[in-house]
Amino acid sequence: MPELPEVETIVRDLNDYLVNKKIKTVEVLNLGSINQKPAVFKKNLEGQKITKLYRRAKNIVAQVNQDYLVIHLKMTGQLVWRTGQTTLAGGHPIVNVGQELPNKFTRAVLKFSGGTLYFNDVRKFGWLRIMTPEELATYLGRFGVEPLEDTFSLEYLKSALAKRKINIKAALLDQSQIAGLGNIYVDEALWASGIAPTRAANSLKLVELKKLHKAIIDVLSLSISKRGTSFNNYRDANGERGQNMKFLQVYGRAGESCQKCKRPIKKMRLAGRGTHWCDHCQK
Ligand SMILES: [Zn+2]
Repeated sequence: MPELPEVETIVRDLNDYLVNKKIKTVEVLNLGSINQKPAVFKKNLEGQKITKLYRRAKNIVAQVNQDYLVIHLKMTGQLVWRTGQTTLAGGHPIVNVGQELPNKFTRAVLKFSGGTLYFNDVRKFGWLRIMTPEELATYLGRFGVEPLEDTFSLEYLKSALAKRKINIKAALLDQSQIAGLGNIYVDEALWASGIAPTRAANSLKLVELKKLHKAIIDVLSLSISKRGTSFNNYRDANGERGQNMKFLQVYGRAGESCQKCKRPIKKMRLAGRGTHWCDHCQK
């Protein structure tokens, strides 16, 4: 699933192509991917301009007239921008479909004056929803603080974890506390701060909270600067592979040696997710 850095990269890139561009036509190929009747959905978008595009948590939010088009890629969603001979894709990699668009996984097509945006989704968990400002506020209100904004202070992290008896891995994955952190960056931040993922969230000492707070900001900032983490044939919206994979210290490195102590990285199931860690460096 694309996490905060990958969604941020998509949004930054698509900004250049979509903002102040008029949506000419909308085609819905899977009714379950949208939240309105197709005719209403089309009417709300066709002929309108996207005036603003931004990320909140893992959501892509486009302001359209007075309302919003919100896109969530979930597990297997992908956005592909095609203009002339150029194809730019961001999100989950979809293999074995070639360059043909739309393809059998295309769920919606938005034609702009300068190109076409395809929403592809293998497992159909992703969605495009039109929301009023009130609906958007309610929906986004479920998410916790943005970890790269000032509201994510050490004090906030401390109080968010103080109430939680669950393990720190599960607590950090909870989107209602900190938005946008997923499996990759939680594993990375816990390794960087030397904290075992199995620790009770409310057991962290102040010195550990300080390290964790800094590590969360550092791993996300590094990944954004590397345009996110690419797996397989993932391409960002400019068609480039994110370079962050090379900088991952534990995620996807089970059995390889820890960069700090040279012992093998372990993998276990925790909080329902494959969890990578070093049982020597993380206490
Ligand atoms: Zn180690």
